[in-house]
Amino acid sequence: MSPYPITIDHAEGAMLVDLDGNRYVDLGNDYAVAMSGHSNAVIADAIKAQFDHGLGFGGRSKHETRLAEILQARFPSVERLRFCNSGTEANLYAFLLARAATNRSLFVMIDGGYHGGALSKAMSDDRFFAPFDVITVPYNDVAALEAVFEKHGPQIACFAMELMLNSGGCIVCDEGFAQAAQRLCAKHESILLVDEVMTSRLHVGGLQAHYGIKPDLTTLGKMIGGGFTIGAFGGRADLMRLFDQTQQGAIAHNGSFNNNVMSMIAGYVALTQILTAERIDTANALGDGLRKQLNALCAKHKAPLVWSGQGSVLALHLGTTEPKRFNPPPLSAEIRALFHAHMLDQGFWIAGRGMLALSVETQRAHIDGFADCVERFLVEQSEVL
Ligand code: PLP
Repeated sequence: MSPYPITIDHAEGAMLVDLDGNRYVDLGNDYAVAMSGHSNAVIADAIKAQFDHGLGFGGRSKHETRLAEILQARFPSVERLRFCNSGTEANLYAFLLARAATNRSLFVMIDGGYHGGALSKAMSDDRFFAPFDVITVPYNDVAALEAVFEKHGPQIACFAMELMLNSGGCIVCDEGFAQAAQRLCAKHESILLVDEVMTSRLHVGGLQAHYGIKPDLTTLGKMIGGGFTIGAFGGRADLMRLFDQTQQGAIAHNGSFNNNVMSMIAGYVALTQILTAERIDTANALGDGLRKQLNALCAKHKAPLVWSGQGSVLALHLGTTEPKRFNPPPLSAEIRALFHAHMLDQGFWIAGRGMLALSVETQRAHIDGFADCVERFLVEQSEVL
């Protein structure tokens, strides 16, 4: 970190170790990818066992079929799916599919939504955020969403949304907003694309199971590859058929690494042996407990800070109530940098923007240690806050 960039040497379980030998409790977990912890022994053994038998075949393998079956069992809306290399790629293919299937070109997304480098309203300059026409609506604003569909319904190819704003600040979705998204897309024959790249870690069937909605398309990534690079997109069979290469005019889905064996094996082992419903619930309970604990500390010390999120992910904001939409009052660069430096100094690794994503290796002692560290920050920096 500025002015002393930290270079990581290695990671183990819940810990990161830098080149100088400093150890950090990892509460960032590779931006939520490493939900199984670092180099989980079960995944490592499976990868080592495969190493002498080929890393990629340039053809179908039993490994991708097995991973696909697990994902389809978890996500019943995903009748067919395809693998790619990242969440960004998965979304790009889903957008392409939505355009092809509807013969429309207008997209609707959330202000503060993040669908990877290709479509980001959370982390990108407004001039560059999308390669096509996009209308944005505020999160959790049913009236605004209805108004957009009322005005542009016949042109809307796709409404893309996250069921919790992730990079946009871990902002929880109102049930009514999720339901409205499904209803309006069905009414106007637009594709509802739910991006579960991050939120698949919050419920065994993703947040679509939690909210009881059935998207037309779903994108996946991050933890479904057991730490390896991965993306997947899928949904209604009649839509996914447009990728069927035996049909004339099919959409191309090419890529040297699309079904690389290591990601398929690591993902399968992670989902079947590590990221079970029970362990997802345990990580969520730890995260929910931590959020309450941190918000109680902020209230106790009258600090104008609040933690938002759901289950195993949380984010820090300026304010006293959890934001409902993007663009809450911004945490000043100074406070953000101070907070981050304080955490690193005390041995906790978090995302620089103040976001945490727990793993199944995160223990109660890590959580308690972090809460103590936050309390020291609130006391020591009370004048700055
Ligand atoms: N969609 C969401 C909701 C994400 O949080 C991310 C990554 O943070 C992506 C897509 C992009 O995934 P990737 O980084 O694998 O390209």
